[in-house]
Amino acid sequence: MTRPLIDLRTTPHGGRSLFAIQPIARGTVIFACEVPFGHVIYKDYRREVCAQCFAYAASTSRNIGDPRTWSIRSCRATAETVWFCTDECKVIWESGVIGPLIADVNALLGKGKIATRSKSARDGYDPILPNGPPAQITQDCIDQAWVDVEDLVSSRARLSSYCSTMNLEDMELEISRLVASAIVQRYVFDHRLANLAVSSIIPTSDPWAEVLDLQSSELSNVSLRPYILAAHLRVYAFLCHSLPKHLRLYVPTARNILARDTGNAFGIWDGDSRDEMLGWGLWVGASYFNHSCCPNVEKTRVGRAMHFTTSRSVEIGEELCISYIDTNQSITQRKQDLENSWFFTCQCQRCQSEEPDEASPH
Ligand SMILES: [Zn+2]
Ligand SMILES: [Zn+2]
Repeated sequence: MTRPLIDLRTTPHGGRSLFAIQPIARGTVIFACEVPFGHVIYKDYRREVCAQCFAYAASTSRNIGDPRTWSIRSCRATAETVWFCTDECKVIWESGVIGPLIADVNALLGKGKIATRSKSARDGYDPILPNGPPAQITQDCIDQAWVDVEDLVSSRARLSSYCSTMNLEDMELEISRLVASAIVQRYVFDHRLANLAVSSIIPTSDPWAEVLDLQSSELSNVSLRPYILAAHLRVYAFLCHSLPKHLRLYVPTARNILARDTGNAFGIWDGDSRDEMLGWGLWVGASYFNHSCCPNVEKTRVGRAMHFTTSRSVEIGEELCISYIDTNQSITQRKQDLENSWFFTCQCQRCQSEEPDEASPH
């Protein structure tokens, strides 16, 4: 049996992180996360991105004038139409459970969406937060807003009446689709769990437990962007209203997903050039990697999977880090990006060495 290369440990500065427990050569795939626990491909890209492997039509066309959308598709009456790069991808997708179920749910969400509104209207009146976001954001006022929305969704009549006049932003619909895809995965996992229990096989890990293990950024996120609170509440009400009964059971956990999306999600990019972000996803195990501006691990999306490869040789005991941001940026820009989206101040070696040191004589 080969000895494991890496180990997940609790760090002195809090949180968990992956460490090398053997010397690791450069170019070693140390970890792979096979599928995202939840994902969404932006509406505008759906014909251009393979529903199975996320291949982007425009980046694979070699000649100018080649089609920039895929032509193979799956269309069932109950489901949203999705596109594939090859027949092989279509067969894999159709033989799976999760993909078709997500397409069914997305069809429902598409139908349930009443209207969209422009960003400029985001601070306008919305009965979900009648007085707008609270002036002083505290955990208590966020909790209270969630108690209020629970109250709203507990009455089907009031929920229907609210949703019939609800204005859901395009981005809120995308967020709804992401949360719904995670709910579908949880549903499928739970039902397989039931089958597995019969054959008395104990599953090694529960992906939903892993989601809950991720760090919540709810308070930091809402404090920085107060409009997010109303957006999340609208997504929640919309999902309660639109999802079929067997999935509605899981909607109460949507808050857990929403609280962990920012700070744990990875963009689905068109390729290494990262010119266009096609959507985003939550690859749960991937979130164990901490950030460094001089990382020793590179992440690469391979189809639906996220692969983590050492970008240099690593010694025993070294922390394994990826970069969450564009490391070609200046220290100021890097710090700002990390503070805005990951809510921490980077203390990596590179940041410490680049930081202007007031005590230094020059
Ligand atoms: Zn494909
Ligand atoms: Zn840094």
